[in-house]
Amino acid sequence: MRIAIKVGSNVLTRADGTLDITRMSALVDQLADIRRAGIEVILVSSGAVASGRSEMHLPHSETEQMDSVEQRQLFSAVGQAKLMGRYVELFRDHGIHVGQVLTTKENFSTPRQNDNQRQCMQAMLAHGVLPIVNENDTVCVTELMFTDNDELSGLIARLMQCQALIILSNIDGLYDGSPSAPSSQLIREVSVGQDVSRFIAEERSSAGRGGMQSKCHIALEVAAAGIHVYIANGKREHILTDLLRQPSAIPFTHFQP
Ligand code: GLU
Repeated sequence: MRIAIKVGSNVLTRADGTLDITRMSALVDQLADIRRAGIEVILVSSGAVASGRSEMHLPHSETEQMDSVEQRQLFSAVGQAKLMGRYVELFRDHGIHVGQVLTTKENFSTPRQNDNQRQCMQAMLAHGVLPIVNENDTVCVTELMFTDNDELSGLIARLMQCQALIILSNIDGLYDGSPSAPSSQLIREVSVGQDVSRFIAEERSSAGRGGMQSKCHIALEVAAAGIHVYIANGKREHILTDLLRQPSAIPFTHFQP
């Protein structure tokens, strides 16, 4: 069995924008546990831009001179290195090698490029290396960008023929109303082709680029390709191991393939 897990910036960063090492460490422990159960894991991790921004801590007078592309390039260059450094250390404690895959939308555009990426990750998995994928934010600008890492994770899940894609965000899943309203209910199951647009709020996440709209759009597409998709809360303790071992005990939204 092979699964792809996408972790959003909001899960990996604290309110002040710094990397939440405690959270990362807890997620890595669970990923190691999943691997020990014989499941292959591909991690799609955001957090580069957020971690670079908090690492550099540039004064407002400096950032206001830079356009958004320049900021993204600078912060992701610094932040991706920092993010990977953390992952290397945390996975090393479990005896797991990790490898970095930085990609662009263009890399999914031809069969040859798709094969190339697939072979790279196949080789990693065959040698027990856990691939950690992110967009190459330093060189992807404007129209060449993925909408967000939700889109990237959907492409990876399909490219690598995963049985499941788990999208971890800072919310339990899709609600039938505003997630903050007490009357709103979590939608447990969504079937292929189901129209969920009326449930989706327009607001976007503060740290990353995604939002529930893009998550549901991707989830429906990936499920239609025969892959189980789960949207769950990455800030919940033991979320990944519970999802695999005792799903009835925890909240999430499952998109049926
Ligand atoms: N690739 C971006 C990063 O690592 C995240 C994109 C997104 O928010 O989905 O910061």
